[in-house]
Amino acid sequence: MRETITCPHCGESLQPLGVGMHMASCIRKPGVLALVRELMDPDNTGYGCTVDAYRRISVAYNDAAPADAVRAPSSDTLARKCGSWGAVLELLGLKSRQRARQPRRDARAIEQAAIAEVAEAITRQHAERLIERGLPVCDFHYDATGQRVHGPRPLPDGRVARILR
Ligand SMILES: [Zn+2]
Repeated sequence: MRETITCPHCGESLQPLGVGMHMASCIRKPGVLALVRELMDPDNTGYGCTVDAYRRISVAYNDAAPADAVRAPSSDTLARKCGSWGAVLELLGLKSRQRARQPRRDARAIEQAAIAEVAEAITRQHAERLIERGLPVCDFHYDATGQRVHGPRPLPDGRVARILR
């Protein structure tokens, strides 16, 4: 079994080769989450950034940071530790701009309006049909050979008998 080192901050077992990188940016290390929050929301608006934006910002920050400085963990590490990017924002107390711009209830309201519109059109169409033509007398009949046939019985002149309402 290969020797591993346990991170004193998060308790993760680390391969010796990865220790330096992990220790510099372990999300349980004091100051790391504060740095992530600062990178995501420098103007303190209360909103976090997308995972793609954080990837760009964190890479640029790490490239420019002094060797001994706290380093920004990767977006992958954050998402893996927290379960999802949304959970990362939640952990930092930040809201998602995407969700704020497009609330889910708007999509639901639009869908419900569309369903109501279609239902209303069907009801109106059905009502018009009833007024115009009435309901068929029967939805089946027997033809000349005694076979049960689906649909209203045609009258001798070819028309269909209907109940008038
Ligand atoms: Zn750690």
